[in-house]
Amino acid sequence: MLSTAALLLAVAPLTAPNGSISKAPFGKAPDGKPVFAYTLTNAKGASAKVLTWGAVLNRLQMPDREGKLGDVVLGLDSLKPYEGTVPYFGATVGRYANRIAKGRFTLNGKTYKLAVNNGPNSLHGGLKGYDKRVWKAVPRTTPEGPSLTLNLVDPAGTEGYPGTVSVSVTYTLTNANALRIAYRATTTAPTPINLTNHSYFNLKDAGESDVRGHLLHLYADRYTPTDATLIPTGKLTPVAGTPYDFTKTKAIGMDMDAVKGYDVNYVPSTKGFRQVAGVVEPTTGRTLQCWTDQPGVQLYTSFFLDGTITGRHGTKYDQYHAFCLETQHFPDSPNQKNFPSSILTPGKPFVSKTEYRFGVVK
Ligand code: BGC
Repeated sequence: MLSTAALLLAVAPLTAPNGSISKAPFGKAPDGKPVFAYTLTNAKGASAKVLTWGAVLNRLQMPDREGKLGDVVLGLDSLKPYEGTVPYFGATVGRYANRIAKGRFTLNGKTYKLAVNNGPNSLHGGLKGYDKRVWKAVPRTTPEGPSLTLNLVDPAGTEGYPGTVSVSVTYTLTNANALRIAYRATTTAPTPINLTNHSYFNLKDAGESDVRGHLLHLYADRYTPTDATLIPTGKLTPVAGTPYDFTKTKAIGMDMDAVKGYDVNYVPSTKGFRQVAGVVEPTTGRTLQCWTDQPGVQLYTSFFLDGTITGRHGTKYDQYHAFCLETQHFPDSPNQKNFPSSILTPGKPFVSKTEYRFGVVK
């Protein structure tokens, strides 16, 4: 006689109601640690592939208006390029995403020095940021969809930052085709923190052609203008009447040449967990909404891609072939008194959530 469990198994549908998770090797880190790729597949068949290297979102497949699945982020099928010069594709960026002026900040009377790795400034956590470390993964199926938590301990002094930070990033691919990214961090001493996901999106063809034709709406009436090295001046400037204005939907390419592409932090008009961006790709019908509780969002239209990186499907990733919506604290917050504080203190965890919600228009 069959047990109840065996009976249940025998009648299990092909697509599990809560989705599924598979694990495969994805090479070895320079220090010999094995790296794994986890593929989360939801009940609708959409999937997200996440690496234990850099907690990278390596691949994301979403349906178009015909229901056909296709890649919507740039990614590579081997580990080596991620260890090298690939510019943060899909990565979890920390301890401080974006720039800190001159690679220094003063906290409680003490000045801390960071690696200067972007002109005169520190960018995206320094030389070996969170994007270049091996995280520990814990997979879980939930009623909402498959989920993967990645954990990292970032010891005090690493890359010049104070306090040991324990950070976890949880990706959940919901059965409603949303990719939720939940962050949690604690520290043993006060430190700046700014965590983001650096996915390069292209809803049309995952990077084969440019994103000028994607329609973008940003729910942000101000931005933080910068100096020539992309450090904010400290002002919050209205977007009205500038090429930065996306408060009414327009093609990304519409005013782009005037500013050599976008690489700018927007200040959403409202606070709390809210929609900060909406994107429609007219040819495939794919849509993306970006929701977050963070004070800022960096629109970066991949000015620095130049065709030298060949990715999945042999695609050459060229300038403007992707856009990033990096939810974040404002750049250089540790040095800017008027910006929302990015300081994490012991006993008060940093908790944050960003969702990329996918859909289609007819
Ligand atoms: C920055 C860009 C930088 C890119 C690296 C973005 O967050 O704002 O200036 O080139 O990351 O991929």
